[in-house]
Amino acid sequence: MYAHKRLIKRLSPDHQKIEAIIRQLENVTAGFNGECRVDQMVQEVLFNKHFYYFPNFECQLSPTRIAQIDSVLLTQSYILLIEIKNMRGTLHFQEQPYQLIQELDGQSIAYHCPQMQLLRASDTFERWLKNMKFQQLPIYKTIIMPNNRTVIKTAPTTVPLIMSKEIALFIQKINELPVVISEAQLEALIHSINVNNKSYKHRPLCEKYNIPIEQIKKGIICHCGTSGIRISERTWHCPKCQAVIPNAIKQTLYDWFSICAEEITITECIDFLSCNSRTLISRVLNNNNYIAIGKTRSRRFKLNNEETFYQ
Ligand SMILES: [Zn+2]
Repeated sequence: MYAHKRLIKRLSPDHQKIEAIIRQLENVTAGFNGECRVDQMVQEVLFNKHFYYFPNFECQLSPTRIAQIDSVLLTQSYILLIEIKNMRGTLHFQEQPYQLIQELDGQSIAYHCPQMQLLRASDTFERWLKNMKFQQLPIYKTIIMPNNRTVIKTAPTTVPLIMSKEIALFIQKINELPVVISEAQLEALIHSINVNNKSYKHRPLCEKYNIPIEQIKKGIICHCGTSGIRISERTWHCPKCQAVIPNAIKQTLYDWFSICAEEITITECIDFLSCNSRTLISRVLNNNNYIAIGKTRSRRFKLNNEETFYQ
């Protein structure tokens, strides 16, 4: 979400891809809000046994086969795979072929069918569990609609679809299933998942949307979209907000890594920050936030830890 917001500020307002990026930001934001609402509803469930809940679950079976699931609930009795669809308008879950059609503002838009996404993810996860010798745990699947005003014209028949208010009752019902693995086995399974579940790696948006880096606005840009004016070595001022731009260098570098490329050279950094002090740039990059790759002349830098970087 953050990267999309920053990309919009770094593109010219009449860029040919701006509308698609704004639409994608709306989808990502709606998806995130929906997931938060579902996470809250899961917290209302009364559990009579140990459980683990993984938002943004990822399971890698092979280098080419990865299952990504919005949320996964694990207990000693079952595994529940949850796909969350926060969508407006009227929905048709078509099955021959599997496709999700959304009718909104007089338009019909086709999406990948969440039923098929769950069936594929479940197949991958089931094979992984078998490799790990945990095949005795039954896998349940559900699609959750966090938006109560969504109209379901054609309901799915392969995977149950529930609204967010039904979550607690749905989970409490499957909580009555008999225990099939011991507490120690559940702990061992969670350990294997934690080792296998790699954090999601973001691709720079220029690569995702096929935008040449030259089309990205350079320099320090305030959250209001105005270019900052340098007032001291490390401080930039926004003439519109009449305020200092917080963490100007750090934020601009994060823009580079999330929008332009996974690596940066000192020359690229000087150019992107529009700041010609090689000493300052060297000092900024030779820091724990970055990992240096290569020899002095062609040295490149990449982010050390994406999650802790922008705080
Ligand atoms: Zn501003």
